[in-house]
Amino acid sequence: MGNRPHILIVGGGYVGLYTALQLQKRLSRGEADITVVDPQAHMTYQPFLPEAAAGSVEPRHVVVPLRRTLKHCRVITGSVTAVDHARKVASVLPFEAHPERIDYDILVMAAGSVARTLPIPGLAEVGIGFKTIGEAIYLRNRVLSRLDVAASLSGEDPETQAQRRRALTFTFIGGGYAGIEALAELEDMARYACRRYYRTLDAGSMRWVLVEATGRILPEVGVAMGAYTARELVRRGMDVRLNTKVNSMVGGHVVLSDGDEYDCDTIVWTAGVKANPLLTHTDLPLDSKGRLECTAELQVRGVADAWGAGDCAAVPDLTSSDPEATCGPSAQHAVRQARQLGDNIAQVLRGGRPSAYRHKYVGSVASLGLYKGVAEVYGVKLTGFPAWFMHRTYHMSRVPTFNRKVRVLADWTLAFLFRRDVISLGQLQHPREEFQEAAR
Ligand SMILES: Cc1cc2nc3c(=O)[nH]c(=O)nc-3n(C[C@H](O)[C@H](O)[C@H](O)COP(=O)(O)OP(=O)(O)OC[C@H]3O[C@@H](n4cnc5c(N)ncnc54)[C@H](O)[C@@H]3O)c2cc1C
Repeated sequence: MGNRPHILIVGGGYVGLYTALQLQKRLSRGEADITVVDPQAHMTYQPFLPEAAAGSVEPRHVVVPLRRTLKHCRVITGSVTAVDHARKVASVLPFEAHPERIDYDILVMAAGSVARTLPIPGLAEVGIGFKTIGEAIYLRNRVLSRLDVAASLSGEDPETQAQRRRALTFTFIGGGYAGIEALAELEDMARYACRRYYRTLDAGSMRWVLVEATGRILPEVGVAMGAYTARELVRRGMDVRLNTKVNSMVGGHVVLSDGDEYDCDTIVWTAGVKANPLLTHTDLPLDSKGRLECTAELQVRGVADAWGAGDCAAVPDLTSSDPEATCGPSAQHAVRQARQLGDNIAQVLRGGRPSAYRHKYVGSVASLGLYKGVAEVYGVKLTGFPAWFMHRTYHMSRVPTFNRKVRVLADWTLAFLFRRDVISLGQLQHPREEFQEAAR
C-alpha cells in the first residue's frame, strides 16, 4: 500500500459491507486503501434466513459475495483474532493460511454479534443456533429428514411410538424475530410437506414447542402484535410456553422450568445475541455488556481513528428521552449507521467534522409462513396476508444489490408457479460418506 490512509474494516456483514460501499462511493480511487476481513466470503442477509430454511428462497441468493460487490476493496477471507489499536495493527488468521499482521491507519469494527448462550446442560451438544446460512440449510434438512425418519417408523409398539414422537418434536428457545420467524416458517413448510407428500404422517402428530423466558414474544413488533403472534401460533397448534426456561437438554431430553419434560430431536437456540467476543482481544473501551463504547458520531469513545457500529457497538440512541439509551441490535440501525459511518470517515479524511447518527426505530415486519405475517411499522399494525406482503416488498427493497433482488424475485415466482420445493439434501452434511465406503 502507498502513502494513502489504509482503512481496515473488521467484518463484512451489514455494517462492513455498507460502510465499504459508502466509502467506495464517497472516496476517489487514490484517496484511501480499504481492506475488508471476514471469515465468510459473503455478507448474509439474515432476515431471509427463515425463508431460506423453509425453501421459499434459494440459500445462495440470500448471501452477497464480497469480492464481486466490493470491487475497489481488498477482501481477505479470514478472522481477525486481535487488535492492538495503540500500535494500529490487527492479527488476522486467513482461511487455511499462516497468521499475518495487518497495519492500518483507520479501524472500523463491524464484527457483529454471536448467540448469547447459557450454561444449560446439553446445549452445546444438541442445540443449534439460527444466525448463519449453514444453520438455515442444516435446519431445513434436519426437519425434513425427521419427517422421513418418522414416516419409516411404522410399528405401534411403545418404543417405536416414542421414537416417532421424538423425531416429530421440534423445540425453539427464544421468542425474538429470529426464533419466531424460524419456528413459524419451518412449521409451515413441515405441515405442507406432511399433508402433500407423507401420506402415513398426520401433521397433527408434529409437536412444535416455543420456550420463552419472559411473558411476551416478538418485542420488535410491539405488545399488541406480539400477543397476536402468540395467539396465532397457538391456533396453528404450536405449544407456546411463556415465562418458562429450559433447565436441561442432555441427549435431547428437554426439562422445562414448569415441570414438563420430553424427548426431542431438534433444538434451536435463538435466545438473543451478545457482542462478538473478539472485542475482548482488543485495547478498545467496552461497556458492561461487552459492546464497543461509541459516540453518536460512531467514533470509539476517546480513541482516535477507531469507529464502530451495528450489533457489536453501543451507539447512543439520540431519539430516546433516556440519555443512557443505546440503539438495539437490528438491521435497521446497522444499515443506516454504516452509511453514516462511511460518510463520516470520508468527511474526516477531508478535514471535515463527522455528523451524529439519529434514527428512530420505526417498528418491524415478520413473516410467519407462506401468506402469513405480522407487522407494526410507524404505528400501523398489520396481520395475515397484508403483513406478509409488506414483509416481502420491504425486504425486496432492502436486500443488497440488483443481482440479489432479481434472483430472490425469481425464486418467489418459481415457488408460486411450481409450489415450493420440499426436499431434504441431508447428504450435504456428510458428502464424503458414500465415497469413503466405496474406497474402503
Ligand atoms: C434470523 C435473523 C433474522 C433477522 N431479521 C431481522 C429483521 O427482520 N429486521 C432487522 O432489523 N434485523 C433483523 N435481524 C438482525 C440483523 O440481521 C442484525 O442486527 C444485523 O445483521 C447486524 O449487522 P452487523 O453488521 O452488526 O452484524 P452482522 O451482519 O452479523 O455482521 C458481522 C460480520 O462480522 C463477521 N465476523 C465475525 N467474527 C469476525 C472476526 N473475528 N473477524 C472478522 N470478521 C468477523 C461475521 O462473519 C459477519 O459477516 C435478524 C437476525 C437474524 C439472525
